[in-house]
This record gives sequence, C-alpha cells and structure tokens, in this order.
Amino acid sequence: MKRFRNIFVEKDIEDLSYTKELLKNLKNPDYTLIDDYSKIFAVVKKPYLQKRNKLDLFIARKTGELVKEAPNAYGLSGERHYYFIHAYNCIYECQYCYLQGYFNSPDIVLFVNHDEIINQMKSIMLETKTNNRIWFHAGEFSDSLALSHITNELEPYWGFFKKFPNAILELRTKSANIKTLEKLEALPNTVISFSMSPEKEIKEYDLLTAGLKGRLKSIEQLAEKGFRIGLHFDPIIYSDDIYLRYQKLFEDILKVLPIQNLAYISLGVVRFTKDVYFEVERNYPDSGLLQESFIKSFDNKIRYKRPMRLKILEKMKSLLINVQIPEEKVYFCMEDE
Ligand code: SF4
Repeated sequence: MKRFRNIFVEKDIEDLSYTKELLKNLKNPDYTLIDDYSKIFAVVKKPYLQKRNKLDLFIARKTGELVKEAPNAYGLSGERHYYFIHAYNCIYECQYCYLQGYFNSPDIVLFVNHDEIINQMKSIMLETKTNNRIWFHAGEFSDSLALSHITNELEPYWGFFKKFPNAILELRTKSANIKTLEKLEALPNTVISFSMSPEKEIKEYDLLTAGLKGRLKSIEQLAEKGFRIGLHFDPIIYSDDIYLRYQKLFEDILKVLPIQNLAYISLGVVRFTKDVYFEVERNYPDSGLLQESFIKSFDNKIRYKRPMRLKILEKMKSLLINVQIPEEKVYFCMEDE
C-alpha cells in the first residue's frame, strides 16, 4: 500500500540533499512542487482518522524558532531542556496522542533544513557560559525514529553531538526502527528513549507502533552496542490489574537492558488537554482510556484525581525500586510535585 496519497515539496528545498535522499528512499514518487507548505497544510480541517488512508506528506523548510526551550518537568530537573522540530505529525496512531487536538490535520510534514536546526543548537551551546549539560529533545511533534530510515538526518546530528559533549540528545520513539541508528557510534551524550507499556496496553492503545517484543529487541540491540537508553512509562492508563502487568514489564526490560545502559526512567499518568480529550471521545468512543473518571486539574489538563495519580506514580516507583532500579534514575513527568 502506498503510504502517502499525495506528496508536496517546497520549491526552495527541492534541490537540498536531504530532500533528494528522502524522495529517493520513497522510491522517487510523483510529487507536486509548492511555494509554502503552511499555505496548504492544515488550512482546511482534516479529520484525524483520515491518517489511516488519506495521508499527505509535505517536505518543507521549518521557519521561525527551530529549537525551543522546553517546559518545566520536561526532563531531569536542574538542567536546561530544549526541543527541536524536525517533523509535524506521526505515522502511528496512539489513541491518547496529543497531536489529535494540536494541528488541524494529521498530514505529515518533514522538515529538511537540518543544517539550520543544528546551527541554532550550536548558537545555544556557544552562548551558554556554563559547563552544565543542555538537553535537546527530538520528537515533540512526531516519533523520532519512525521514519528515520527514509529521512536520513541522524548522521549530521551525530556530528554536532560529537563536537559538543555537554549537549545531550534525546530521541524518543515507540518504533523498532533502529536500522539507521545502529550504523552510528554510541555517543555517551545521546539517549535513545523508548516509551513503554505492557503488551496489552500497546495492543489496545498504541495502534501501528512496534509491539512490546520489537521494542525490547531494539533496546537489547542498542544496549549491546553501548547506547544509553531512556525509558518513559508514560502514559500509564489505570486498570485493576495494571500493577501486575507493569511488574512483569519491568522484569522483562531488565532481562535485556543492563542497568549501566539505563540513563533514566520517567513515569507519567495519562492526561489530556481539553481539546485532545474531546478528540479522543470522538475518535475512540469505546476506548478503555475513557473508563476511569477524569477531572480538570491544576494546569487545566484533564487527569485522574490527584490522590489516584499520586498513588499510581508512587506504586510504580516502588515496583521499580523493588527490581533494583536506582531511585535517582526515576522521575515523575509533568506532575505538579
Ligand atoms: S508515537 Fe507519539 S507522536 Fe506518534 S501517534 Fe503515538 S503518541 Fe503520537
């Protein structure tokens, strides 16, 4: 099946090597030249679930701020965090995905001005006078690795992170697409993060993503090559037997991931903005996601009640400590305390 219904390429970047490589990897499809993706992408509302069979691709240049300061609680505290934007939207279909309410369209935009993004990162590093670490996270608006075999941008980013050891890269994924990554050196300042859930939850909520086996295999292969691995148990979706499944998941992960390769673990309970919550209700009305009751919480997000959230987080943390995960490697993501 053809992955994309239509492909649009901005005229200005048609001759860029990243664009040519991308089109080559897409087996040189027919494409339409356009002036500016932003005049077409998401201009007319396209229902989210059209991503299943009517997905368009835009290859474009990102303008404006390419590297943005990340909100508090984005990562390990006490350090500066940025995220960079190399794509909008995702080929996967997680039922809780916040991209449902974010853009007006599920169409994919792949930005190819990686050299400009890298230059902005470089400026941030050069302007910063301290020797403290600075984090750069990819995948705020997409999955970092899902299309990495066709986009081929990892190598130049590796060049940058090799030169700046205090710059830390996090690539975050639910894929098992590590083909390109495996060819690269396992730099100490790069972290490959996998979002993990028990098998049942992956099947139920993480549609089209790599299954648990695939994610575990990728973790094992990358750890064997010396990569540092981050784990995000986020979003945790409550059900009565959830702790048993997470206990098993933690044990399974430790069979393939030596502790010395573990960079950190984040824990987060399912939460939505108001818009995303409405989208989830519309797109997945029978989803188990909606079974528990939610409230509007301190930051206007829709969450479980606070005692329930804290109980889940504390319980998960104690399960992790029970399987010998060092406590200092575990943090709570996007909670008020
Ligand atoms: S992998 Fe991430 S970006 Fe992609 S659909 Fe799932 S939650 Fe959204």
